[in-house]
Parts: sequence; structure tokens; C-alpha cells
Amino acid sequence: MWQATVYTLFPEMFPGSLGQSIAGKAMQQGIWNLKSVNIRDYATDKHKTVDDTSYGGGTGMVIRPDVVHAALSANLHPKSKLIYASPKGRPLTQAMIRSWLADYPDGLGILCGRYEGVDQRVLDYWRENHELEDISIGDYVLSGGELAALVMLDACVRLLPGVLEKSEATTNESFELDLLEYPQYTKPQIWNNTVVPDVLLSGDHKSIAAWRLKEAEITTQTRRPDIWKNYIANQKTGKK
Ligand code: SAM
Repeated sequence: MWQATVYTLFPEMFPGSLGQSIAGKAMQQGIWNLKSVNIRDYATDKHKTVDDTSYGGGTGMVIRPDVVHAALSANLHPKSKLIYASPKGRPLTQAMIRSWLADYPDGLGILCGRYEGVDQRVLDYWRENHELEDISIGDYVLSGGELAALVMLDACVRLLPGVLEKSEATTNESFELDLLEYPQYTKPQIWNNTVVPDVLLSGDHKSIAAWRLKEAEITTQTRRPDIWKNYIANQKTGKK
């Protein structure tokens, strides 16, 4: 079973959306499990203090290294990937999700910060001793790492074997082929005086595939020149 462990000051935020729909069903089926560790349980003083003021000054609080270290030491699966959700981290991509699942089949641990974040020394310790990696879900600042953890876990869980009925459903998706996905249509065939493109009703699978590829290319080229550049480069080298 794939094991996800989140380290958080707000364990009640989990499983949250991951208890619903595809991820929720997969959890019930025992394909994956989620453990939320309350960092506060590892505070040692009678007030259960987890944070303190920032050395050097500033308004916000910083999460203490000793408390985070105790929480990680007591719960970390030795073979799982360890992540600190951070706006300063490497930007999350679909390729990273796939590589975590391939390289760390046992699961994922995610440390969620709050306030001004976590004392740098404990992050450095776990980076050196357990290859902890800072990962960002985008160039904006959230109040805490919990939403970022939910995003990362959702992206992982839907790729686990047995979660989606057809694995093809994920291989054609946006980002998988360095292309954004083609447009999708369903019934009714005519809606608001607009019709579904004829080719999709033709039953001609070759033409449908060619149309979808062209649409995916147009969408990618116009919306995401950065991805388009990779796609063209890979086409030239025959990488994908
Ligand atoms: N003072 C930090 C800074 O300027 O980089 C921001 C701290 S933020 C208010 C609190 C916590 O939210 C962070 O420690 C991190 O865990 C999480 N967080 C905020 N934005 C994030 C993002 N874009 N991706 C991942 N985690 C994020």
C-alpha cells in the first residue's frame, strides 16, 4: 500500500478533498493510506509550544526545529520521499510526480509549514540525511503547506496502479506528452447552436487521433510557449 504521511499543525485539514471521489475510493480500497502527524504532539513544554519569534527580528513566528525533528524522526518511513512544501522550492511538475512514484514506490512524506515557515537548521539536517526537497506548487504564497500537500498527493494518487480504470486516461493528459490536452466534448451533440466537431463523430480513429494532436499542438503553442519549446526540441531529437 502506498503510504502518504503529512506533518502539519492542522491535521483536521486531512484527508479533506482526498477523502472524496477517485482518491477517496482508492483509499477505501486500500490502494493508499494517509497518516496526518500533528507536529504539536511533539512539543515538550506544558503549553505545547511549536513556534517562536524570528532571530534577527520581524513580525512572524517560525516553527521550532526540535519539535519538527521529533515529529519526523518518530514517523518517517525510511524509504519514502520527503518533501517540504515551500514557495522557495522547485516548481511542481507532472514529470516530478511520475519520478517520485517510480523512485519511491513506498510513499511520500510532506512537511507543511505555517507562519514564516520552519527553522532552516532542521530543513538542512533532513536535506543532508534524508534528501528532503523543497517543492513549490506555484509562484504565490499560501498561508500553510496543507493545500500544497493536498495538491501533490492528489496528483500522485490518481497515477497509482488501479486508481483510474484505464491507464490511457492519464497518458494522453496535459503535460504527459509535453503537450496540453486537446478539447473534450460530450452529449448533447448540439448545444447552444454549436456542434461537436464532425471528425469526432466519424468513427475514424486515425483521423480523430490526428485532429486531437493538431488541436493539442495549437493549444500548447498559443498558451504555453515554454512547453511548446520543449515539445519541438524533443520532436527534433526523437525523445518522446
Ligand atoms: N515566509 C515564507 C516566504 O516568504 O517564503 C512564506 C511562509 S508561508 C506564509 C507558510 C507556509 O506555507 C510555508 O512554510 C509553506 O509550507 C507553505 N507554502 C506557502 N506557499 C507555498 C507554495 N507556493 N508552495 C508550497 N508551499 C507553500
